[in-house]
Amino acid sequence: MDFSYSPKVEALCQQLKGFMDHHIVPRIRQWHDEVNAGMYPVSFMEDLKTRAKSEGLWNLFLPHLNAGEPGTGLSNLEYAPLAEIMGSISWASEVFNCNAPDTGNMELLHMCATAAQRKQWLEPLLNGSIRSAFAMTEPDVASSDATNIQTSITRDGDDYIISGRKWFITNAAHPNCKILILMGKTDPAAETHRQQSMILVPIDTAGVEVVRNINIMNHHSPEGHCEIVFRNVRVPASNLLGEEGSGFALAQARLGPGRIHHCMRSIGAAELALAMMTERAQQRKSFGKYLYEHGAVSDGIARSRIEIEQARLLVLKTAWMIDEVGAKAARKEIAMIKALVPMLHTTVTDRAMQVFGAMGISPDTPLADHWTWGRALRFADGPDEVHLRSIARMEIKQAQTQFGPMAAYLT
Ligand SMILES: Cc1cc2nc3c(=O)[nH]c(=O)nc-3n(C[C@H](O)[C@H](O)[C@H](O)COP(=O)(O)OP(=O)(O)OC[C@H]3O[C@@H](n4cnc5c(N)ncnc54)[C@H](O)[C@@H]3O)c2cc1C
Repeated sequence: MDFSYSPKVEALCQQLKGFMDHHIVPRIRQWHDEVNAGMYPVSFMEDLKTRAKSEGLWNLFLPHLNAGEPGTGLSNLEYAPLAEIMGSISWASEVFNCNAPDTGNMELLHMCATAAQRKQWLEPLLNGSIRSAFAMTEPDVASSDATNIQTSITRDGDDYIISGRKWFITNAAHPNCKILILMGKTDPAAETHRQQSMILVPIDTAGVEVVRNINIMNHHSPEGHCEIVFRNVRVPASNLLGEEGSGFALAQARLGPGRIHHCMRSIGAAELALAMMTERAQQRKSFGKYLYEHGAVSDGIARSRIEIEQARLLVLKTAWMIDEVGAKAARKEIAMIKALVPMLHTTVTDRAMQVFGAMGISPDTPLADHWTWGRALRFADGPDEVHLRSIARMEIKQAQTQFGPMAAYLT
């Protein structure tokens, strides 16, 4: 495995950093001011998107683009350092059409949409003219186990009728969110993993009600993590994604790339926290010493560097495996990074907040926002425990096929 960045990727990293420095960093304050004043999308977002697209910094995440589709066609391994750069600013990814959950939704549509579905929904998503959401989690059941999902999708002539309640649906409050990919049950009597299907639901369909945008740790996200009720929502049968009963398999396929993208961006957030921590530790003195001269602070800096490097290497290995053998064969690595990296995100950010003193938890630095998002990522796309469970099960299964080392020691 060779994880060094190719000259093409190095050049793209420089170009992306330059774009961030010139067009995004100077607008951080304006973004917050406009969002706090209730203006969303912010006034400059479309201009920035147009500029990014014209400079070729667009859809950097999709490896298997078809001819004529906009984007770079980078592999997952090539995309990793770019996602990391975008991850240092919470809203930057959208400028490059690389934000969750649209990226995962585009990957899914790219994989299984019909020609008509591609034309109607994938094309505008790839062009960044609409946004989307993915609706799986429900308030009434433990949704970390996707087989629990209760929302019904019932065939009625040429239509399906959808009834149920979802929550924490990211992006559903975005004014440009036009389409929901919903997971529900078409056949509750089928084998456990064949009961579910996915279906496309335009958000303006009669019976779809966005009830509220749920704050995360009292932090308000303008794009939303919404509760949505579906009351006898009727959509054409042609809106089904894949075939009836394929929803569980599609969810697994969607979550692989989605999870690694979150992890790539989290490495960027952790790098920012470490950079801020080291800068602050060289500026302030207590008890006659710079903060970095206190052992506790310098240990925190060193541990953060070690942990970021470890996590980055595992993310790069996972990206390489997805490229080489596919997301299914890389599922242990994907589970490992998903259990590891959100924790790294919060741990390093927490150390940085501590070094900043009280200011660290104020809105005067991005640290509190980054910590909040890192904490949320320990649930989004499945809680830590479920990923740990998957890793342990694969380890046990693998161990059962091999002779254990104990025999050698016990003879
Ligand atoms: C910011 C944010 C954005 C989100 N965006 C979306 C979205 O866009 N679309 C969407 O559909 N969902 C989204 N979610 C929801 C997220 O995917 C779920 O919260 C997650 O899958 C867990 O489901 P749950 O909340 O029902 O928790 P439950 O399933 O009720 O689990 C509760 C807790 O039980 C424990 N637990 C569960 N299973 C096990 C196990 N096997 N072993 C040990 N402990 C276990 C864990 O501690 C877990 O946190 C988002 C969540 C957040 C916080």
